[in-house]
Amino acid sequence: MLNVPPQAFPAPGSQQRVAAGGRTKVPLKPGRSLMDWIRLTKSGKDLTGLKGRLIEVTEDELAKHNKKEDCWICIRGLVYNVTPYMEYHPGGEDELMKAAGTDGTDLFDQVHRWVNYESMLKECLVGRMAFKPIAAPKVVVDISSTLHEEKKQLNGMLSERKVLGASARDTTPSYDWFQTDDLITVVIYTKQKDMNAELVIVDCHDKRLRGEIILDDHSYLVEVDLDHEVQDDFAVNIAEKIGKVEIILKKKDHIQWKVLGLPLESHNTLIKRTERGLFYRKCKLVSKTEVTHDTKLFCFMLPRSTHLQVPTGRHVYLKQTIAGTEVVKPYTPLLPFLPLDFKEPSCQDDAHIYLMIKIYSHGLFTQALDHLQIGDDISVSNPEGNFKTSQVQALEDLFLLAAGTGFTPMVKLMNFALTRVDCLRTVKLIFFNKKEDDILWRNQLEQLALRDERFEVQFILSEPAEDWVGKRGKISSSLLSECMKRSKKDSKVLICICGPTAFTEQGVQYLKDLGYSQEEMHTFTE
Ligand code: FAD
Ligand code: NAD
Repeated sequence: MLNVPPQAFPAPGSQQRVAAGGRTKVPLKPGRSLMDWIRLTKSGKDLTGLKGRLIEVTEDELAKHNKKEDCWICIRGLVYNVTPYMEYHPGGEDELMKAAGTDGTDLFDQVHRWVNYESMLKECLVGRMAFKPIAAPKVVVDISSTLHEEKKQLNGMLSERKVLGASARDTTPSYDWFQTDDLITVVIYTKQKDMNAELVIVDCHDKRLRGEIILDDHSYLVEVDLDHEVQDDFAVNIAEKIGKVEIILKKKDHIQWKVLGLPLESHNTLIKRTERGLFYRKCKLVSKTEVTHDTKLFCFMLPRSTHLQVPTGRHVYLKQTIAGTEVVKPYTPLLPFLPLDFKEPSCQDDAHIYLMIKIYSHGLFTQALDHLQIGDDISVSNPEGNFKTSQVQALEDLFLLAAGTGFTPMVKLMNFALTRVDCLRTVKLIFFNKKEDDILWRNQLEQLALRDERFEVQFILSEPAEDWVGKRGKISSSLLSECMKRSKKDSKVLICICGPTAFTEQGVQYLKDLGYSQEEMHTFTE
């Protein structure tokens, strides 16, 4: 059972009070936590004022409901009465009122696209917009309609002929497919050089093939309901230099396919990544090991029918149903342990996702996570985030300012820098924690510092025991100037910051005061 006392929630310092991603979260009144909201939605109370009726809403009608006490918002064509939700919104009433009486899709996508509003607001659903909303997903290219016909001619052979429609531009990816007795190969011509496995995400489950290619801030999708069944496992081959991606599926029945399948709604589209809905697949919990008194390392196994690698500096969203409502939170995958020999590229295995997660005694999501049993499923999204490893290339000094579990993105980052950046001189982790026993992977970090002379770690405690001989305090200008020394004057430097929002914001300010430029900093946020 969830152990969630309604009145203690959210406690000072809770994620529900403090903003991530630079947004200001407002203090919520007692009894207005996410769990309280979930309880209200289950209470049977009429939250729309329409006694369960669903209506068609015109733009004029929507515009009339623009006051706090009567506030309707349209998201992706569905209209919600958000008045009952006002006091529960972590971003505050004013933030919600920005979209009052209008189509809030764009605003929603900018701020928290990942929040599962359909589930959270389902009891507030008023109905559907009578007219197509202004901010429907913008499809740059949609060339899917001819899939069925085209493929009849391409059956059984690889055609270099492009299957693009007239609207296609030179840089628009295209796809093709061919078959042998045993295999179906879907070929995607991305037209992007330096394609790599992290940019290709494939799921093939229940005859549904979904292949997403990340092209900078765009996403290209092949999404087809396959004509026949295929086996769970498949191969992905990438010709990096020419940007060709092959998805090789194994047929279940050795028959000739006449067509690849039926195109699904978003098939063959190239749109902005932020406009592509989050896609989840079920992953199994295979192990859960203690890291400290309150933090555990969770290992989730990806299904065989998924090809996904989380790039350095990116996070995923986990989704669980808690008390009947889908709840989503971000977590940053890392390595199963800190490699002590950074000469070889990482010990990453592609079948598992490792997450180091602090279990909060009153945490809605982490309590539910902690109750997962080995073998249980959890939904894991595609990677998100804006860190680019190009920020680390040609770097001489890398400073990592981490607080608590803000350590998680630093692991792959250190690994990347120490193995792939030739001119790197120093990597220094400045690790802020409350107490000594909160320090994550302390032994491993100290061993690494002994092994690799480029790596240094400094622990700073805000609530140390009397006998702590190391540094004390919270992030401050003086601590930073004392701990961060360039390896040489004007060295190329990057400072990465991750932790509670207040920590990150203060860190950025102190670094500016110390003369570091915005380009020399990266903050990990939503
Ligand atoms: P909530 O229900 O939101 O909070 C409930 C209680 O938890 C509060 O009452 C309070 O007691 C406690 N609490 C929550 N946050 C804090 C805090 N900062 N300080 C003190 N008490 C607090 N977390 C990880 O453990 N590992 C990760 O890899 C990770 N990656 C993240 C990546 C991103 C991009 C972001 C934005 C956050 C990440 N987080 C990570 C935090 C995570 O998303 C959740 O916010 C966290 O697990 C708390 O969720 P909860 O629902 O259990 O807590
Ligand atoms: P914590 O409460 O144990 O605090 C660790 C240290 O952070 C403290 O010792 C202190 O030095 C510093 N700190 C905490 N609150 C501060 C404040 N208000 N001002 C200045 N410094 C402060 O930390 P935790 O419970 O492990 O929380 C980790 C945080 O990191 C969470 O907020 C989590 O959401 C965030 N996080 C973000 C990402 C990301 O990618 N954005 C990834 C992982 C974790």
